[in-house]
Amino acid sequence: MVMTKIFTGPVKIGKELAKIKQRNPERGVHSEIHALAKEISETFGEPKKFAMYLGIIKNIGPSKSYRIFSKIKQSKNVQTPGRLFVYESTKTMQIVKVPNKILKEKLKTVNAITASLKKVILKMKKTMKENQGIGLAANQVGLDMQLFVIDEKLSKGHNAPSVYINPEIKPYLKQTEELEEGCLSIPDIWLKIKRPKKVKVKSADEEGKKHKFIAKGMLARVLQHEYDHLHGVLITDK
Ligand code: ZN
Repeated sequence: MVMTKIFTGPVKIGKELAKIKQRNPERGVHSEIHALAKEISETFGEPKKFAMYLGIIKNIGPSKSYRIFSKIKQSKNVQTPGRLFVYESTKTMQIVKVPNKILKEKLKTVNAITASLKKVILKMKKTMKENQGIGLAANQVGLDMQLFVIDEKLSKGHNAPSVYINPEIKPYLKQTEELEEGCLSIPDIWLKIKRPKKVKVKSADEEGKKHKFIAKGMLARVLQHEYDHLHGVLITDK
């Protein structure tokens, strides 16, 4: 699971800081990141905050940290490099591409909608947009959960939600339609895929609200493509 911790509010920061104090920052896998933190804090003078940010964002390796560091250096906004660092490091997620085991697995049911899950959803939407996708499933960003997001323009046009948690999607009519599809996890491949024209959808949104509706057209197609992802099915398997 790849997840970047985002934190807000003084209480949470205090708790995280206490956790960091318990480890030895000079040793282990984080030593390079801590060395970087030192360099950044000496340059910008935000010593404690920077060490904290870099320590907390554990899944960011030194090379990505360096990239972000040089971006911060070039930026005119050096007033709050800590904030900028967090923004830069959390703005998008990495798209998982084939071949990867998680793309072939049936994903786990989501048990609770938490604040961190909502943040994941926002990041998935951002990642989808930045990659010009119209749908993105959790395993496409390395997460094992029954969740996908779709383009808001598409969902609004059909009066449907843009977030799908533990969805159930079944054909509504036998009638099928063939159309070319692409997938963010399979770059540069377009395949003609036959799918039912209308589907029956049962799902929950990010507020836990239940939705039940019949989808058709492009919405039905995108929903089926993403639903397939949650069950480890790719367009190359069709
Ligand atoms: Zn896909």
